[in-house]
Amino acid sequence: MPSDTEPKSVRVNKTTGKGMEIDWKDAHQSVYTFQYLRDACPCAHCDEERDKEGREFGQPVRPTSLLPMFKDPPRPTEVTPIGKYAIAFVWNDGHQHGIYSWDLLRALCPCAECKAVRETNKLKPGGSGAIAR
Ligand SMILES: [Zn+2]
Ligand SMILES: [Zn+2]
Repeated sequence: MPSDTEPKSVRVNKTTGKGMEIDWKDAHQSVYTFQYLRDACPCAHCDEERDKEGREFGQPVRPTSLLPMFKDPPRPTEVTPIGKYAIAFVWNDGHQHGIYSWDLLRALCPCAECKAVRETNKLKPGGSGAIAR
């Protein structure tokens, strides 16, 4: 059902820094914080970092010291649609290689309903936006 993972509308609240909201064609709604999206960056580099730390997709980076330096919360400085299938961000920390396909974003939906489904099915998005089913 590929049309289910197409967004009807996408709102990136870049100026308020609140996050991104997607209304899907199947009437589902996803709300992502920028922190969540940044931590779930699907690029090869971030994939490797997650692997090294044994982190799951979308799980926050563990602080490396007891007194982590204050960092600006992640926020995209640029948002670029990639054709009809994905969206890419340039983050305020300069990172910019992740391409977030709609499939990936739908699989990462942080709502309680989708979380429950993921936990039952152990659905995990893999690297480069591929989803292991
Ligand atoms: Zn990345
Ligand atoms: Zn959901």
